[in-house]
Amino acid sequence: MIPEFKDRLIGSHILISEGLDKAVYHAEKLGCTAIQIFTKSSSQWNAKKLTDEQKAGFLEARQKTGISVPLAHASYLINLASPEPEQWNRSVEALFQEVDRCQFLKIPYLVLHPGSHKGAGVKEGILRTAEGINRLHEHQKENGTVILLECTAGQGAAIGSKIEELADILNEISDQTKIGICLDTCHLFAAGYDIRTKESFSNLFNQFDQILGIEKIKAFHLNDSQKELGSHVDRHAHIGKGKIGLEGFQYLLNDPRFKKIPMILETPKGTDDTFDLMNLTQLQKLIRLQK
Ligand code: ZN
Ligand code: MN
Ligand code: MN
Repeated sequence: MIPEFKDRLIGSHILISEGLDKAVYHAEKLGCTAIQIFTKSSSQWNAKKLTDEQKAGFLEARQKTGISVPLAHASYLINLASPEPEQWNRSVEALFQEVDRCQFLKIPYLVLHPGSHKGAGVKEGILRTAEGINRLHEHQKENGTVILLECTAGQGAAIGSKIEELADILNEISDQTKIGICLDTCHLFAAGYDIRTKESFSNLFNQFDQILGIEKIKAFHLNDSQKELGSHVDRHAHIGKGKIGLEGFQYLLNDPRFKKIPMILETPKGTDDTFDLMNLTQLQKLIRLQK
């Protein structure tokens, strides 16, 4: 059985090794109505220039499938919070390249990790990250790609695990029209934010609304967590098979404030589509539960 999401934007992170267009058709085959991709290798700085054929194929696939709001995820190498000038410069350059590719492919959102301060301190990391994004916006004024800072699990010296830290970064950004937030449920939970009960769920989003504004949330990553609340360890689990459990996802999926927000699975993959279909079907069941 293939799930059906109709008026919702629900999908999975799909690999583009077979081609950008193939990734979109693959998502459609799984019942997805949204998609996230890397537009280049997530672990390499450089990439081949995209061709007009790739672009045409990607746009045609989106039109044919109705998967109209793709998200891109930036390379894991980028660290805008880095105190090392060489790494920081390289990261800003790589970010320029990422948004260029998004613009070329007409991808509206680029998900980006805020980075690691590597011992220089949270405050420093926040300022450097914001400076990198401001630099991008100044240099690429005509590029409308919206950067979505992803909340982190708070592993090591990673910044962005607290709502206040995300708010501090956003407050430093000059162009507020090109910045938003992507909330990853596994990262939230590992950072100590509970969504397992109705009360904790509503507390979290009340808190988020007061500190940052709920309208800043432009995407969700739906992942259960292998590790306990507040563990600061980022290990994704299948939906309902981790420490968060089904109830939290049920609240999120049925919250009227989030019904138009893309929600993307980054759950473990096997050698075929089995796990993706299992997780997507689980999400669909949870959406129906409250209808
Ligand atoms: Zn991410
Ligand atoms: Mn994520
Ligand atoms: Mn993660």
